[in-house]
Amino acid sequence: MNFSAKNVFAFLNYQFKASIIKSVINLCKRVLGKANNKVAKSSKKKPSTSGPSVLTRDQHNVSRKKMSNNALKVLYRLNSGGYNAYLVGGGVRDLLLGLTPKDFDIATNATPEQIKDLFRNCRLIGRRFRLAHIVFGREIIEVATFRGHHENAPEKEQSCQKTSKQSEAGMLLRDNIYGSIEEDAERRDFTINALYYSAKDFKVHDFANGIADIHAKKIRLIGDPETRYREDPVRMLRAIRFATKLDMTISKETEAPINELAPLMANIPPARMFEEFLKLFISGKAQLNFTQLRKYDLFRYFFPATDRMLNDGSHPHIEQFIVQSLKNTDSRINNEQRVTPAFLFAAMLWYPLQSHVERLRDSQPHMSPQDLFFAALSEIMSEQQQSIAIPKRFQAVMKDIWILQDKLSRREGKRAYKVLEHQKFRAGYDFLLLRAEIESTPENFILQELAKWWTDFQSTDNNTQELMIKSIVSPRAGSRRTPRKRRKIRDSNPSDHN
Ligand code: ATP
Ligand code: MG
Repeated sequence: MNFSAKNVFAFLNYQFKASIIKSVINLCKRVLGKANNKVAKSSKKKPSTSGPSVLTRDQHNVSRKKMSNNALKVLYRLNSGGYNAYLVGGGVRDLLLGLTPKDFDIATNATPEQIKDLFRNCRLIGRRFRLAHIVFGREIIEVATFRGHHENAPEKEQSCQKTSKQSEAGMLLRDNIYGSIEEDAERRDFTINALYYSAKDFKVHDFANGIADIHAKKIRLIGDPETRYREDPVRMLRAIRFATKLDMTISKETEAPINELAPLMANIPPARMFEEFLKLFISGKAQLNFTQLRKYDLFRYFFPATDRMLNDGSHPHIEQFIVQSLKNTDSRINNEQRVTPAFLFAAMLWYPLQSHVERLRDSQPHMSPQDLFFAALSEIMSEQQQSIAIPKRFQAVMKDIWILQDKLSRREGKRAYKVLEHQKFRAGYDFLLLRAEIESTPENFILQELAKWWTDFQSTDNNTQELMIKSIVSPRAGSRRTPRKRRKIRDSNPSDHN
């Protein structure tokens, strides 16, 4: 099978026409009152899914050759165990678009316990949304049981806290009501994500006109957008993410409620926000996602202090600094270089940290620079943790990057060699380069000179390094008489950067 864009779109074009014909037939059936009762009933509440269009193997380009062998093994095992199983979501969507899927998700009518009985390498996870993870070394295939509608669940289950729970605002706190494949399709977020591929007959089932939307490059929620955002506000972030990732636009109805419903994001647990941060910012599309999140006023739910500074214009470099750090991250990812989320966290919070230091210095003029830095760090981190739960290992790297900004400016004696040996030297040096690029002005070259000094220092021989250290004009040359004790405090001062 040839996967050229031309072929992909020929298939899509074919299917687009087929789905229009199918829609017209469905409409006629409904007008004549012959439409399937269940579909008609649910389409009143959730109008976007009708009976599926089915594409046979010769009508689509979803090939097993492009799928993970482990995902195929799981599909085959579920089928031979007597269950229905489908590849669904990004796995089908991205293959239809000629892209390489990030992961392969499977949906089945087997319950989590039945899945566990079939696979020795299975772990059941999640309370809010119970799932099976089939573990193959580093690859995990996620298998979900078809979800049903909460209102269709037997009364006993609706009232059972363990299977279903909804907040007063309509947010689904637990979603473990199982149902049919049709219901599962209606519970999915976007039309382009409700495509199901069967490894039994190689057919793709399209429940919500997803193929037509792939063709039209539209991100469209299934059902009533407001209800769907209230059930799960993260869908607002997902709409943005898929639009930038797939170079599509968000449909008008799906876009319309975002501004008004954005405050619902405040209810999302910080641990989930961390996951969403990674998907949006460690994806190769960070810069675009940042612009879109700002446009819809969603960025503040990730970095409230940064967002405030961006809005009040209190710092001349902050926006440029963030944009450049995101550009660098994107290009590293697109060149398959390693990135650490800690660098981006450090960049996002750099100016808010400086402003905390300044505010504290004004109110507590007797505090040592070191104490000022650690007090500001603790304030900024405790505010930030309420939005995103940044794991401890990344917090430690952020702190190292910030402390290195001071250490990099102290190069006398043996200090430069010690800094070079610092475990996080590279990240700290890259951060300095970024600062030098953005913060330097025609009147102020200090940072640029410092950055150049470190670039040269790393690439030269030992003798030249010695000469470079000797040639530094110490800013403290005139303060020899400073008592020893005071100098010691200054040596470890991490917040005085220039
Ligand atoms: P990618 O893996 O490329 O980010 P994806 O569409 O596969 O995209 P996942 O987060 O892996 O996204 O989710 C798999 C599928 O599960 C989605 O395609 C969608 O059908 C469904 N899904 C995920 N999150 C939600 C949600 N919040 N609401 C409704 N359905 C969801
Ligand atoms: Mg996926």
